[in-house]
Amino acid sequence: MNFDDFLNLEQAFQSGNLPPLLVLPGSIPVLVSAPHAVTHWRDGREKNADLYTGALALWLHAQTGCAVLAAGQSPDADGNHDPASISPYKQELARILQDDPVKVVLDLHGAKASQPFDVELGTGPGWEGKSPLVQKARLCFLAQGFNPEKIWSDRLFSAAKTETVTRFCIRDLKVPALQLEINRKYRDPDNPENLTMLLNALKDLVISCA
Ligand SMILES: [Zn+2]
Repeated sequence: MNFDDFLNLEQAFQSGNLPPLLVLPGSIPVLVSAPHAVTHWRDGREKNADLYTGALALWLHAQTGCAVLAAGQSPDADGNHDPASISPYKQELARILQDDPVKVVLDLHGAKASQPFDVELGTGPGWEGKSPLVQKARLCFLAQGFNPEKIWSDRLFSAAKTETVTRFCIRDLKVPALQLEINRKYRDPDNPENLTMLLNALKDLVISCA
């Protein structure tokens, strides 16, 4: 795998030159979302980007043909927090899901390296860890060699407590969705083994949801 391409994808997000919302139509009915791909603002406080989540979304688009919605700039917004009434990100997501036959939304996020999990699957409201998407995702991560004890769901980041993209999709748009909080140790081109495991697991998950 050529990680230079992956670094270039991320560089586009961190350059500040992208439009506020990046929308790529898909050829399969899966949408990958990256609302924190760039620095964003939550309730007036600046929050760091979830590094490499934008690059992951674009890489998955190139590999699988999935649709993508990602933040290219978030001067005064948090697409994973703001209510839909004031969120351009959620309004654009609603428009895409109305126009396109998307069956599943996978919402990518980044967790700090110090978090005790490698990936945490957040199911939003009502599923209590029993979402069929959790089983599907778990199998994809296990197949790439992830430690089963470090694939969490609904423990720290359940996607159910605030106005998350996942909750918005399930509750308001009636589209199945899953939030993936990915440890920084796997979003790291300096650790090609881990990054390869992550890329392959996500690619398999997107394909298996199509
Ligand atoms: Zn995030």
